[in-house]
Amino acid sequence: MSPSWVRASAPAKINLHLGVGPVRPDGFHPLATVYQAIGLLDVVTVSPASAWSVTVAGDDRLALSDVPTDDSNIVVRAAQSLAEHAGVEGAVSIQIEKGIPVAGGMAGGSADAAATLVACDALWQLATPREELLELAAGLGSDVPFALVGGTAIGTGRGEVVVPAMVRGEYWWVVASSSEGLSTPEVYGEFDVLADGGGLGDPDIPDELMAALRAHDLEKLVLALHNDLEPAALRLRPSLSDVLAAGVEESALGALLSGSGPSCLFLCSGREHAEQVAYGLRTADPLSLHSLGRVAVARGPVGGARVDRVG
Ligand code: ATP
Repeated sequence: MSPSWVRASAPAKINLHLGVGPVRPDGFHPLATVYQAIGLLDVVTVSPASAWSVTVAGDDRLALSDVPTDDSNIVVRAAQSLAEHAGVEGAVSIQIEKGIPVAGGMAGGSADAAATLVACDALWQLATPREELLELAAGLGSDVPFALVGGTAIGTGRGEVVVPAMVRGEYWWVVASSSEGLSTPEVYGEFDVLADGGGLGDPDIPDELMAALRAHDLEKLVLALHNDLEPAALRLRPSLSDVLAAGVEESALGALLSGSGPSCLFLCSGREHAEQVAYGLRTADPLSLHSLGRVAVARGPVGGARVDRVG
């Protein structure tokens, strides 16, 4: 008997290194990135329906109103691409519960797409080979394959070519989201202005970062964290510098912008330390950190998109 609904979850991503090369003729930027999936999750529930529909729920501080509930939502494209691939007819209703900041530089939409792919695969009892799901994922967006794979991984191409990396131990992060999202294309646009058509070589993955991850050496890891998009995002949203500085003042080992921002990441030495830094940020003077949204603690690496329940 086929299930009447399937629930799946997928994690937010952070980039421990985000190297960006000069824009290509097709408009994309070549990336060399080290992804880590962390324990901030979106949950997607799919069930058969007579028409396609999307509903969105979650924490009010995550800018939920920016998530479309029509066919432009990436979850509809994800379900339809799998349906087309497998020759399935009929629509599904898709409920999204957001735990990942919207337009926060943490690939929340990509996580929803990955969760939808595995949920619909189970709903329609397709058992689609992993390679085929990864190909469909890459067609949906650069970060979707990583949301399927999870863990810690190197991403190249536009970020869609994902190879798992050797990493020891767990890493504790504080994630400070912003009350207002930042548009990824706008941040890349600003990046192009700053690069001014020159000075950029092909991006690559720094050996020091990979060595620090293999050894679980937090001191070396802090020194190796890097995001090429940070100057562009800070130009567009200067108040983020105050958030980054506040986390370090609260004793975080290091601070980094997540992807294209505006979420800020703080590396901590363990869970208790992360709780302490998060508490400090939550109780900081709201006037000095007026753009601060939800402050959460998350562990990485965690696994990729997976089916949680079938009913
Ligand atoms: P990117 O993945 O481009 O780095 P991001 O992580 O900053 O983006 P997302 O939360 O993925 O941000 O959303 C980017 C935009 O995509 C949103 O502003 C929204 O308009 C659109 N969008 C479409 N579907 C979704 C979805 N399921 N969840 C969130 N945003 C979505």
